[in-house]
Amino acid sequence: MRALKLQINGIVQGVGFRPFVYNLAKKYSLFGYVLNSGEGVEIEIEGESKLIELFLDELHSAPPPLAKIDSIKKVDLSPKGYKNFEIKHSKSSSKSTLISPDIAICDDCLRELRDKNNRRFGYPLINCTNCGPRYTIIKELPYDRKNTSMAEFKMCKECEAEYKDPSNRRYHAQPISCFDCGPKLSLELDGKLLKLSQQEIIQKTALLLNEGKILAIKGLGGFHLVCDATNLVAVKNLRERKKRPSKPFAVMVSSIKEAKYLAKISKKEESLLCSNIRPITLLDSLKNSKLSPLVAPNLNIVGVMLPYTPIHYLLFEHIQKPLIMTSANISGEPIITSKDEIISKLGSVVDGVLDFDRDIVNGCDDSVAMVVEGERFFLRVARGLAPVATTLKRKSTKKILSLGANQKSTISIAFNDKIITSVHIGDLESIDSISFFEKNISILERFYQFEPEVLISDLHPSYHSTLWAKKSPLPHYQIQHHFAHTLAVMAENGIEEEILSFVWDGTGFGSDGSIWGGEILLVNPKDFKRVGQLREFKLLGGEMAVKEPRRVALGLLFEIFSLKEILELNSPTVKAFKEFEIKALFKAWESGLNSPLTSSIGRFFDGVASLAGVAQKITYEGESGMKLESYYQDGLDSKAKLKVENGVIEWREFVREVIFMSKEEIATALIEALVEVVDYFTKAYPNKRVVICGGVWQNRTLLKRVLQTLPKNRLILPKQLPLNDGAISLGQAYWGSCNFRL
Ligand code: ZN
Ligand code: ZN
Ligand code: FE
Repeated sequence: MRALKLQINGIVQGVGFRPFVYNLAKKYSLFGYVLNSGEGVEIEIEGESKLIELFLDELHSAPPPLAKIDSIKKVDLSPKGYKNFEIKHSKSSSKSTLISPDIAICDDCLRELRDKNNRRFGYPLINCTNCGPRYTIIKELPYDRKNTSMAEFKMCKECEAEYKDPSNRRYHAQPISCFDCGPKLSLELDGKLLKLSQQEIIQKTALLLNEGKILAIKGLGGFHLVCDATNLVAVKNLRERKKRPSKPFAVMVSSIKEAKYLAKISKKEESLLCSNIRPITLLDSLKNSKLSPLVAPNLNIVGVMLPYTPIHYLLFEHIQKPLIMTSANISGEPIITSKDEIISKLGSVVDGVLDFDRDIVNGCDDSVAMVVEGERFFLRVARGLAPVATTLKRKSTKKILSLGANQKSTISIAFNDKIITSVHIGDLESIDSISFFEKNISILERFYQFEPEVLISDLHPSYHSTLWAKKSPLPHYQIQHHFAHTLAVMAENGIEEEILSFVWDGTGFGSDGSIWGGEILLVNPKDFKRVGQLREFKLLGGEMAVKEPRRVALGLLFEIFSLKEILELNSPTVKAFKEFEIKALFKAWESGLNSPLTSSIGRFFDGVASLAGVAQKITYEGESGMKLESYYQDGLDSKAKLKVENGVIEWREFVREVIFMSKEEIATALIEALVEVVDYFTKAYPNKRVVICGGVWQNRTLLKRVLQTLPKNRLILPKQLPLNDGAISLGQAYWGSCNFRL
């Protein structure tokens, strides 16, 4: 006889872990109990020693599909003589268990949804222990129904029987419901609530979309704006009403088969699209697909996702077209989670709203991903993924709250050996974004009963995250932006040695007060050294240049030519200005008025895109790079090179040569020249492993070429967090946890 107490950490709540343990104990005739505790799952088990071994083996090797075991602590006890095995009530104590993200509908539920003989046939909110909402409905831990937005729905007899039966797939499925007892759909059109049955609501919604209407449809973490992606007028209306002239829209299709009519899809991309994360996946679009050209204007990529809620699947039974599914929000703001807010903020954009009365407690956007050279990258980490837990090799002695950057904000908390990173928050540039930022801080603080002892933010003096930290009396540290970018990748990969990092992005406040973004750093968890950078140039108009690649390009030209020479140049950049504008900007450049120095490769990309005549003014971030890379041609040889002199990437000769080239030659030259720069530095530091990070790496062609060129055994890539600023808070927290430890 033996008795054991087990403490299991990881994602083990709300994923069918207790019934799994219960059934396992029955199988091996073991007695004791299992319960959800604040730290995870607690088990006491007693019986024959051999059988306990078998029990432990199976616990390790075949946990439920959504469970993720981080650690199992075992303590031997003296047997208490339990007479059976039971699932006990949750015990709330200190809270450090991990929360499961929301998961796409599972195959079993999908089968029932389509089975005429099932009592949930066509039930729009079907879910079970293996699928459906989690994070987005939780108010409080532990994850019990009373702590979710399902609390107000009283289970019917049948649901309750399923909920209480450990052999049932819906045993303790907190959002369990059915037509009789669950939340209901409602459809509002032109401000009037329609009197329709649940089934008719789905049919009517599909009919309206077929007719070219724009609807807001509630999903898991918020609303989408939805319309027929093949209907030119509908998409044009959406663009006009939303005031979004050209930023690409994501598209949802009914199946992977349909997706293949829109884009070229590799095996890896297919499994990502079909995974239970169901991210928007960036794919090479096929020419002549039936998508309206206004979905992703002038781009050769398209963001596609597959249905992930029962409502999506029900709609596609009545509409056979790809649908635009874009987050319902005002540009850069958090996703909208309630019908009232849809009506107050986007009432003029939508013709109708498909809603249901299960509240979204915690808003959460769709995740965005791509596959390049067989490697998976996330560009936005939210539904299906977040909150993300990173496990550290050593414990932090302080409780750290890190506040991220300003764009694509996330926040992280660090305690013990964990860093938890929030869902994607958005750009901290509006009151609503900042309040969503604060809400996310309180969500994680509440879930984990976390009280910070130290704050960490970006070095930038006017980021809202930094200003927010400055209001607090807690000790506050500021970490350089590109240092934090690198640390995030190191944290995910558990790296503590010094590495070589290519941190290429748009803008980040440099240690010398200039705008960095084309940096090559040697980084260890406590410090960094700048060993390379792009030759600096002046950014004409500062922030204004971010939206006007032509200003960046002019700043490059001023470094090379005289004013007279520039006015005579036959360049698309020069043509994008009036003569007097160039003269005025030259004066500003000479005097340095509102023209900060930058070493940003993101901006350099913009400048070259302008010189190529690809983009002069842009309406969304990354536009010039995406457009430029569409002209890249494999194997096209170009003589223009970037030289490295004393660690400085010298671009004047390069620009001098490219101004007379075709778009194809310029795009190819830029990407190949940057690949050579990476190769040069990698060879200069032969003993260092290499990290790439920063928003510039979201350029798929550049990323692909570098992945093809760099030796695989030296390269370290992000795992779950994005290449862009969404990873900054993790890097900051990692710095803290490495500095505050025994
Ligand atoms: Zn299910
Ligand atoms: Zn029911
Ligand atoms: Fe950045």
